[in-house]
Amino acid sequence: MIIAANFKTNHTRESTREYLEKLDSFLIKNSIKDDVFVFPPFTALNRYAIISDNLEIGVQNAYPVEKGSFTGEIGLEQLSEFKVKNIIIGHSERRHILKESQEFVAEKFSFFKSNGFRIIYCVGEPIEVREKGFEAVMDYIYSQLENIDLNYDKLIVAYEPVWAIGTGLSAKEEDIKEVLDALRLKIKSPLLYGGSVKPSNAKEILRIPNCDGLLIGTASWDVDTFCDIIMISKLVAEE
Ligand code: PEP
Repeated sequence: MIIAANFKTNHTRESTREYLEKLDSFLIKNSIKDDVFVFPPFTALNRYAIISDNLEIGVQNAYPVEKGSFTGEIGLEQLSEFKVKNIIIGHSERRHILKESQEFVAEKFSFFKSNGFRIIYCVGEPIEVREKGFEAVMDYIYSQLENIDLNYDKLIVAYEPVWAIGTGLSAKEEDIKEVLDALRLKIKSPLLYGGSVKPSNAKEILRIPNCDGLLIGTASWDVDTFCDIIMISKLVAEE
């Protein structure tokens, strides 16, 4: 399974170092086989002394350029310095708060694909679309897959309903299942769920067929809670 932590605009360099050290020794001590990703803020990109083979660092965003004049952004040259090869693209906070269009999201996808990045590509509907029913939800999600190469071998797709992100209100299991089943018809890559995952609901969500893992925001910011969820995923995988 794949378990990913999205720090968003949380944690400092120092707290990220402490977090990664603790997480790294937890993974080693418990022989965790999950692929575990941490997406810290740019300021904390140092890899420090991570030794677990399956712990990977990535970025929450980057600009689709080697280098240039894009004030406030970072490009490939800066990422290469930290040997970062994992990126989240299409997160709902970037689509909705930062107004990234599908065209721009697809441009980022093509750029980081051509540079061999593993891409966690996020899709998910806002509440007003969910209220219209499943067909509207899938139409919306398919529009977010426009100009995305679904056969890319380093693709991971995360289904994250916008209304479930950071709200404490996870989607219902049957709704997650319905969307993941539909996505599976088009996508062979791992499929994740994200949206208010916590230790109390992780087991049920991970048991959903076609759910290959989790993308976690709020509950990942505390390393002990994140480790609890990883342990739950280990137990589900062993069932
Ligand atoms: C996210 O930001 O990708 C996310 C799923 O956040 P949260 O777990 O806080 O809902």
